[in-house]
Amino acid sequence: MSVPSDIAAARAAILNRMAKAAAEAGRAPQGVTLIAVSKQQPDGRVEAMLATGQRVFGENRVHEAQARWTSRRSDYAHLQLRLIGPLQSNKAADAVALFDVIESLDRPKLAAALADEAQKQGRCPEILIQVNTGEEAQKTGVPPLEADAFIKSARETYGLPLRGLMCIPPVDEEPAMHFALLAKIAARNGLATLSMGMSDDFETAIRFGATHVRIGSALFGTRPGSAQLTE
Ligand SMILES: *Cc1c(COP(=O)(O)O)cnc(C)c1O
Repeated sequence: MSVPSDIAAARAAILNRMAKAAAEAGRAPQGVTLIAVSKQQPDGRVEAMLATGQRVFGENRVHEAQARWTSRRSDYAHLQLRLIGPLQSNKAADAVALFDVIESLDRPKLAAALADEAQKQGRCPEILIQVNTGEEAQKTGVPPLEADAFIKSARETYGLPLRGLMCIPPVDEEPAMHFALLAKIAARNGLATLSMGMSDDFETAIRFGATHVRIGSALFGTRPGSAQLTE
């Protein structure tokens, strides 16, 4: 179990590595945002992370995020919550109500549900589309060849505030080609936000243009019980 000083040290070290990777790529360090992935982490570690000043957090499950963040919202004015896991259409209402950014839009039915909820609630999170760059059957995300058309329909048919793209490269492949592909699709569609890079590959992602890196275990320590989970 990490103590608060470990969390602060881990965050400082990651921010350092991010700045170094940005500088090496000729990019400004402020151009890359750290998303602290708090999924499955004990509350004590999350409190310690908040105490460091970290305000941008990623969660992969709507209900877990509600339990953790609904009451904390009012205590932290500049909190930014980002949904980075798959979203079922029947949880669109809860997701629109809680999150500032949804990174996992990947199909028309969900786009319709989000647009509908945004209308009803009078607010809409910023949206990223998840691209399944490795075309893995078990992974969500639009296939790369369908990305341009889906981006167009998210904007024009559903009127969503689309900001960028997200990907999770296959675990057994060199991530660089996946990051390059995501950056290429974003550039040709005029999208500025690139959420890519995790604990093991964020420096590579920054080299390929990541604006947001999603880091869990390297910041908080290993997720308890994570061995049984596939993702
Ligand atoms: C869990 C998760 C992360 C963080 O993974 P680490 O390897 O612990 O940094 C990043 N992105 C997504 C989509 C995740 O589900």
